[in-house]
Formats: sequence, C-alpha cells, structure tokens
Amino acid sequence: MQAWTERVPLRHASPSPQAARLREPQGGDELALGGVDTRAAVQLLDRLFDDAPPGGAGALSASDRDGLLAALHRALWGDRIVSSLDCGACGEPYDLSFELSALQRQLHRQAPPAPVIAARTLDDDGARLVLPNAAEEDAAALLGAEEGGAQLLASIAPQPSAGRAAVCARLDVLAPLIDVELETHCAECGAMQLARFDVQSFVLQRLLDERESVLGEVHALASGYGWSLQDIVSLPRSLRRSLVQRLGGGPAAFG
Ligand SMILES: [Zn+2]
Repeated sequence: MQAWTERVPLRHASPSPQAARLREPQGGDELALGGVDTRAAVQLLDRLFDDAPPGGAGALSASDRDGLLAALHRALWGDRIVSSLDCGACGEPYDLSFELSALQRQLHRQAPPAPVIAARTLDDDGARLVLPNAAEEDAAALLGAEEGGAQLLASIAPQPSAGRAAVCARLDVLAPLIDVELETHCAECGAMQLARFDVQSFVLQRLLDERESVLGEVHALASGYGWSLQDIVSLPRSLRRSLVQRLGGGPAAFG
C-alpha cells in the first residue's frame, strides 16, 4: 500500500529520529471507526500506518498522535479548518477559520525540544518527564479528573522538583496537544469568545459524519457494478468516490 500522508515526525517515540506516514483510508477503515476518544484514535491510526512504529499508536505520546491526526486531516480535506460558531453575545453564526499547520508551528515554537532519552521519556534540564501512553491515559480518564490527574502526574514526574501546575506547564510546551482555546471574534458584533479546538475529536467526528455518504457510495457501487461488499470496502477512498461519480448516481455532494 502506498504511503499517502506527509512524513510525520514522532517527536517522543525514541532517542533516534522517528517518523511515520499513513496510507489512504478505505471504506473498511472509515466504517470501523466507533467514536472520537483516544481508543478510537489509536485503532484508526493502527489501521492506517504505512510502517507502524514499535508498539503502534498506543505506545506514542498524545502529542505525536495529534501530529498524525493533523496530517490525516490535511490529506483528507486540506490544511484549513473551518468551523461554524454561534456568537454568545448577539446569537449570529460566524465562521472560525485557520491553518492547522500554522497552529502546529506555533505550538511547537513555544520551547526548544527536550532530548528524548527513551520512549516517551524527556530530559527537561535534568528533570525526567515520562509522557503517558494511550493505555495510561485511558486508565486515568476512568478515575475522573482529580484522581486520574494525580495518578498521571505521579507517572509523568515521580519526583517533581516543582508543583503540579509547573509540571503541566512544561508538558504543554514540550509535548503540546493540538487541543487549544482560540480567541475568536464575531463577524457581526465583534464580541470575543473562546472556541475550543481539539484535533482528535474534530478529525474523528468529521469521519463519523461521513458515515452515511460512505454507505451511499458502497451501495451505489454494489448496485452499479455488482461487486462484493468486501471488494468495495477495500477500495481506497478517493478511487471509490471517483467510481461513484462515474456511475452518475449516488451521493453527488462530497463535502
Ligand atoms: Zn455577535
């Protein structure tokens, strides 16, 4: 299978430089997606790796997973994010629009990268920070914000030289998530409001929202060519869509 996304640096995977690419999703990958949580993200990335890193997506830091999901968005829909908001002041709808790559550059420009001394382990000026893997994030999430947060912190910095807030602040700059609050301004009245953008839930929700059109395309190809379901859901997404267009039927509006 041909690699399809850009080469994405895995900044925390290993002391030696690592990178990964994803292949184009097939219908089977799109239809297998079951949610927008970390587990769903790990499952999707593991299906799409061209050459999976050791341990797969579950062994990566959340920051590295977000980088892969951003690359997936660029390959599927482009670099520009456009989202519609309702103004809290005047009630009118307006668009939030920005470039994902510019946001990523801004997040990674906050601090020089810390040396990686082992998988997900950073040397922050002599202080060791161990970034959680997906299973550790999941286990902490089950415990709730307070207890889960404390457990995560204990595994990230077993002997913190500073308080919890200081460790969290270092994590935000050394292993940033693409999960930010953006300052937006209403086009109608100019009021400022903060909008949360989380690349994981945004990309996965966008794929989930396409589920009906994927099923429509599968149906059109099954009706038009008489191919088996297995054959159709094994087609790369772009080829499936081109074939549906050539049939002249099926869903014509591809978002
Ligand atoms: Zn307004």
